[in-house]
Amino acid sequence: MSDWPEIETYRRLLSPLVCGLTIVDTTVHRIKSINETAEEFHDGLAGHKILFVERRGKHLIFHLDDGNRLLVQLMAGDWIYYGAEGETKDDDYAIILTLEDGNRIFFGGLRYGYVHRLTAKKLIELIRPLGPDPFDPRLTADSFAKLLGGKRGKLKTALTDPKFLSGIGSGYADEILFEAELHPGLLNASLSEEQKRKLYDSMRKVLEEAAENGGTAEHPFSADSPVVGGFRGRFKVFEREGADCPRCGGTIALETVSSRKQYYCPNCQKEA
Ligand SMILES: [Zn+2]
Repeated sequence: MSDWPEIETYRRLLSPLVCGLTIVDTTVHRIKSINETAEEFHDGLAGHKILFVERRGKHLIFHLDDGNRLLVQLMAGDWIYYGAEGETKDDDYAIILTLEDGNRIFFGGLRYGYVHRLTAKKLIELIRPLGPDPFDPRLTADSFAKLLGGKRGKLKTALTDPKFLSGIGSGYADEILFEAELHPGLLNASLSEEQKRKLYDSMRKVLEEAAENGGTAEHPFSADSPVVGGFRGRFKVFEREGADCPRCGGTIALETVSSRKQYYCPNCQKEA
């Protein structure tokens, strides 16, 4: 997964290590992962300082001192490694940024993911259609309830719709709905105010807990390996079909709805 918790984990780990440092070199092994030639990518980044690292939904955004942004979109199976030259095999990575202190940021995988250098204006155009980040301070419990109440369709579809909320994939949506004791197929408009509030609180609780445990990353972040991937063993319903529900002892079910899987407990997440 490369959802809110995984990207937030990278943001938290990278920020204190790279902010304020200048990029001195770039290596591109996978030209399809960037949006210009390797030479343009190098010339556009070398000599520029990383001011700060931001996350918006599932996007990691490096703000550069020339006003441009480096937009990192990781997909399932992509990862970031941080370390000195020689610590890891360069050929295993699609893109490498070398920093002035000798450390490097390695982007692995990127078969579908990418690292694009963009103007601030272009970036805003790209992310404008996205729904609010689950932790956007303007997304209060009240505004969330209003948005949800006005959205047609079912809960699981709403939570995973990037135009409604950005950063939540199928697995985390299942965990959030379990936490809120709501069936994934309930109609958004059918929820009581109390249920909407519980869903909002559950969303923030599950995502924060996952980020605190380093999400589900399968690769270490660095040689001294701070915890990443610690949330993999903590899912309560996701990929646990047939297992006991940790809340009621019922049996976790797996259903496929419109070719998407949903995991839930039929006993404590009632359909009506
Ligand atoms: Zn249950």
